[in-house]
Amino acid sequence: MTHQETPTVYDAEPIPAEARAEIDRLLSSGDLFRYTAPEDAPVALLEREFAALLGAKYALAVSSCSAALFLSLKALGLPRDARVLMPGFTFAAVPSSAVHADCVPVLCEVGDNYRIDMNDFQAKLDETISAVIISHMRGHTSDMDAIMALCEARDIPVIEDAAHSLGTTWHGKNIGTIGKIGCFSFQSYKLVNAGEGGILITNDADAVARAVIMSGAYEHNWRKHMPAGDNSPELEAAFARWQNKLPLYNLRMSNLSAAVIRPQLSHVARRVRDGLRNHDYVAKALEQSPWITVPSKLGPEERAPDSIQFNLVGLDDAQVRTFAEAAEDRGVKVQVFGLSTDNARAFWNWQFIPGDAPELPQTRAMLMRACDARLPARLTTPELDGIIAALTGAANEASGALAKAV
Ligand SMILES: *Cc1c(COP(=O)(O)O)cnc(C)c1O
Repeated sequence: MTHQETPTVYDAEPIPAEARAEIDRLLSSGDLFRYTAPEDAPVALLEREFAALLGAKYALAVSSCSAALFLSLKALGLPRDARVLMPGFTFAAVPSSAVHADCVPVLCEVGDNYRIDMNDFQAKLDETISAVIISHMRGHTSDMDAIMALCEARDIPVIEDAAHSLGTTWHGKNIGTIGKIGCFSFQSYKLVNAGEGGILITNDADAVARAVIMSGAYEHNWRKHMPAGDNSPELEAAFARWQNKLPLYNLRMSNLSAAVIRPQLSHVARRVRDGLRNHDYVAKALEQSPWITVPSKLGPEERAPDSIQFNLVGLDDAQVRTFAEAAEDRGVKVQVFGLSTDNARAFWNWQFIPGDAPELPQTRAMLMRACDARLPARLTTPELDGIIAALTGAANEASGALAKAV
């Protein structure tokens, strides 16, 4: 076999050149704090633009998606030790946000299609659950129709962890706008890259007022969160209600981050289109391998992937390890969520969760066979072909098929 070029998948796309002029302006004036200017600070403009892009009433930009999740839970005003149901397949930062908010994470099973197992979700959504975080892990959307029906029937608020779902839709509606609050990330491995950063969106005036104040809008800085030229009595009343009543956690975003993010928003649609095209091209090719399956999306979902997840079938643990090594030898790094030591996406490593370690046999079985490879939107077809050849070749090698064929 000829050795094909495999691309570097960790390099991000360059930041659009328009960001430079704005960053220069901010560096010359030293105006980096969102509350220095009387109005229209870059962070405030980002909030308006992001809310409009997603179709939400309010947005609050903060230091990370984890901060957004934490503030969302705090905004709900839950009692201490409130139990928050969330999927057992997510990033460690998600249960961490609940622990940080003095809540107790309760994990439910996830199927081999990376989505919440609705039977287990329904069984665990009992009267002890005060809130739900739906983490759309790697942008895989769970059955939001069933989840919202169950939660609405019991008046349980839903927070969407849409960190990796910017551009994903469900029945044509943006992910992050279905639950009460949606949280997104601008960390470098997400669709919009500011190194670090996060944002929450909601239509709920009371929730956003609480989150704004706790994010660090001390004194009357909340005035700089009022919609431009609009008197919004509902929002103003909510700010007045919570004035001086809430602790400040200071999780604000800097103007520099907003300057890096804003010019990328007009690239989201293209990145989504290219990412989906790349994903579906690779998925179709991998499906040809007898050792690989790529689970299908749910019907109402339109995806916005920048990575691919697939399951190895018919291989034992040793062969799965051989697969990962063989793929790396071919220049493609694959993470098998459950096999790498101390993986932050394996629930048994979340030992900071109080109480007995949960047992989630179905999620565990999935994590032992589920593979993760980055697939940035900027990749070209020859680069994708290189990745396909590396992955299918590695699967053949791991299965022993290659040895037999030689
Ligand atoms: C990246 C990610 C997070 C954390 O985002 P940060 O901005 O790094 O805090 C949370 N959940 C999911 C699903 C993610 O992909």
